[in-house]
Amino acid sequence: MRFLPVFLDLQTGPILLVGAGELARAKLRLLAAAGARIRWYATDGNHDASGLEPADAARIEFAEGDPMAADLSGVIAILCAGAGDIGTAMSARAKAVGLPVNVMDDLSHSTFIFPAIVDRGDVVVAVGTGGASPVVARRIREQIEAVLPARIGDLAGFIGRWRKSIHQRIAETSLRRRFWERVVDGPIGALVLAGRGDEAEAALTNIPDPSAFAGAQASGQAEGRVTLVGAGPGDPDLLTIKALRALQDADVVFYDELVSPEILDRARRDASRVPVGRRVGKPGIGQNAINRLLIEAAKSGQRAVRLKGGDPFVFGRGGEEVEALRQAGVAYSVVPGITAGLGAAAQFEVPLTFRHEALRITFLTAHKAKDAETVDWSVLTDEKMTVVVYMGMTAAPSVRAGLLAAGRSPQTPVGVFARATRPDAQAAVGTLDELPALIQEIDGGPAILVIGDVVAHSAPWRNSNLNQVISELLEAAE
Ligand code: SAH
Repeated sequence: MRFLPVFLDLQTGPILLVGAGELARAKLRLLAAAGARIRWYATDGNHDASGLEPADAARIEFAEGDPMAADLSGVIAILCAGAGDIGTAMSARAKAVGLPVNVMDDLSHSTFIFPAIVDRGDVVVAVGTGGASPVVARRIREQIEAVLPARIGDLAGFIGRWRKSIHQRIAETSLRRRFWERVVDGPIGALVLAGRGDEAEAALTNIPDPSAFAGAQASGQAEGRVTLVGAGPGDPDLLTIKALRALQDADVVFYDELVSPEILDRARRDASRVPVGRRVGKPGIGQNAINRLLIEAAKSGQRAVRLKGGDPFVFGRGGEEVEALRQAGVAYSVVPGITAGLGAAAQFEVPLTFRHEALRITFLTAHKAKDAETVDWSVLTDEKMTVVVYMGMTAAPSVRAGLLAAGRSPQTPVGVFARATRPDAQAAVGTLDELPALIQEIDGGPAILVIGDVVAHSAPWRNSNLNQVISELLEAAE
């Protein structure tokens, strides 16, 4: 991020506008509509500002003379539009006295830039692209315009009016936050958004005990809880809306090593982030310690999110955590996530089931060769079964040996899908016979193995000539 978005208080002083023509007039309209006081140096001497609302026009001061000699005391920012060389010179002046300056379409002489703006009264959204592409910024603005309720500004204003009095009645910060979350997410917020502000005022006035409304326990402390959240296989856009919401509401996030930084970034800014997973080469803190951390966090009134790669209940030990929480009497809920197998299948176009070809799916784990030895491979020999193996990279030779010994064909198509849905995703496809070699083709995990005829429908398979090779092999064998 090169440009930090900040909001300038327009009531603290005038903005100096230097320039001429339609470019300057466009900025004049923008500033005037925003409520700014404007001191305007028209570099072509044409001060025509027709078309503005009278109230807006009244805030414009038409300045005469050389802008380079303008008195800058009290000015809060300088804006040059259609000012030519004077813009460059003004930029140097502004920089010399430390005033923010924007020279339109000239990043090198600007210390601030204008975002695309969504204006809903008290709610203002600024969208920037670091000056790279105003078109992209405008597209984003359109998307935001489309999802923001029309009266969102009213809602912010409504809360603004009540803030002080609620502050006095609920001392604790996190409880206060929950109070407002309940207002915003509940019927009172809905009333404001529906334009029924009076009813909303009445409903808020009638809350007898704001702390209780916010969900405080008898002790006065906020009620804590744990949400097990599936983070999906890596692409942050694969988070569910519920997952995003839990992350946005979290006081603390306990996360696994599989969770990507982009996903962690979606958590509430103020939430503490605690890594509890195994690191490469280092053991994690252990399941019991994790359980204890979750319980303690909830009991101290925090909203804890336990963020896990994929789905919490697919080889994620979510079951054990839920049991521990239940025994400790802690409130919890589970938000599913897209498990790695499904993420990889979608990305590499592996239909895990296929009419007449694949009628069953088995998800299994083969962490170590030892685990692989305990698997009953004889139940996995059905040609119409797709086998998805988690944590199977190290044990791949044993997976191959087990399946072959049980009678699955060495020609069975196999895919190794690494870092699925991440920017550096990678696939290697071949036959069951070649599985260990396919693992070698991959530059590191996490990776899942998919074994079954359906892999022959996958994109990497289609892109290779494997179908050809296999039919040749089969012909040669006959
Ligand atoms: N709960 C997770 C699985 C955790 S076990 C889920 O539902 O996906 C960890 C294993 O998941 C890894 O060894 C690997 O086999 C698989 N895995 C996780 N993320 C992956 C990804 N992006 N691509 C491929 N495999 C992945």
